[in-house]
Amino acid sequence: EEEDAAQKNNIKSSEGPTLSLKNQKTLEFQAETKQLLDIVTNSLYTDKEVFLRELVSNASDALEKLRHLQSAGSKDLVVIDSDRPLQITITLDEVESSLTIADTGVGMTADELVENLGTIARSGSKNFIAQLEAETSANHHDAGLDIARGIIGKFGVGFYSCFMVADKVQVTTRPARGGPITVWTSDGTGTYELAELADDDETRQDRGTTIKLFLKEEYWSLLSEAKIQEILTKYSNFVQFPILLNGNRV
Ligand code: ADP
Ligand code: MG
Repeated sequence: EEEDAAQKNNIKSSEGPTLSLKNQKTLEFQAETKQLLDIVTNSLYTDKEVFLRELVSNASDALEKLRHLQSAGSKDLVVIDSDRPLQITITLDEVESSLTIADTGVGMTADELVENLGTIARSGSKNFIAQLEAETSANHHDAGLDIARGIIGKFGVGFYSCFMVADKVQVTTRPARGGPITVWTSDGTGTYELAELADDDETRQDRGTTIKLFLKEEYWSLLSEAKIQEILTKYSNFVQFPILLNGNRV
């Protein structure tokens, strides 16, 4: 038994299974995005657990958008996998030290991925970030955080909060209208990788988005169902769609 425990402690956060990819390329985050990523990852939140709220709320938004598409009911608006339940699944994997959150929502095309996760599209964000940097750097730490929280609301940097707890994040997504599955991978610093999932990849998914976090060692405590349940109860009680945790309804 002692040996088992020792072995378990020795397991390092793995890179996960190797995906079969094509057309792989490395892209750079927009300069402002890099700055924002750095702030979000390192100094924005004292409560790191809010990352789950951000990911669950994005999943919920994506499901809401899908429901809207479906209810629009237009004939040339084909939603693939239309019989798939609208839900959010969270899976903990101790071997990989990963936390995965998947939804059956609208998903994203490759262009949408680049636009949504690689850039801060809205104008004025530069000024906000300059101000934020000035405020957070020196004496006005608290004021800086207030501004940062404002930015979260205005510019939507919610997704980036997952880099607080993960040293690598992999987003796999298929748009609701069908088409290629795109894989976005990043360690949250300067660049991200974009690729198309090859047809022979065994992990091919249906409609929606899967976000896999390879957890930093200091956050391996998140690999506990009780812990995740606690965070969900604290932050995500309002969610309109079913959430499954390791296969069980939360
Ligand atoms: P916000 O939710 O405030 O727009 P986020 O940083 O949380 O900002 O997310 C950025 C964008 O990425 C979202 O607006 C959405 O377009 C896209 N996105 C994030 N997560 C998902 C998801 N699970 N499914 C589809 N799109 C997503
Ligand atoms: Mg969001």
